Amino acid sequence: MRHPLSIPIGLTLAALSLQAAAGIFSSAVPPTRYQDETSARIQTIDPAYIGDVCGLLMRGPPPVGMAYVACVQDGRVYMPNPCAYPDEPYAATLCHELGHVQGWSREHPG
Ligand SMILES: [Zn+2]
Repeated sequence: MRHPLSIPIGLTLAALSLQAAAGIFSSAVPPTRYQDETSARIQTIDPAYIGDVCGLLMRGPPPVGMAYVACVQDGRVYMPNPCAYPDEPYAATLCHELGHVQGWSREHPG
């Protein structure tokens, strides 16, 4: 099952997260019955290529006037690399933890 997340062209991911928090993109938020804690496989992608990757996975471009910012295919979430958004607390936290997933020790060496 494929689930693309798309936003109007011209908006940045940062803008998306800020506006989603304010409820502007409430249609992009799933109903509460789909908001339980869960686990998923995440593939991070260079933000410059997330549109291309999702376009290939979705086998086509997003609807006119929209752009892919993330997508899901076969249970794997394709997201822009959170380390590209160090000023966003949630993204920075995920970047930190994904560093540990890749072997960064708990002592946090530089
Ligand atoms: Zn840590």
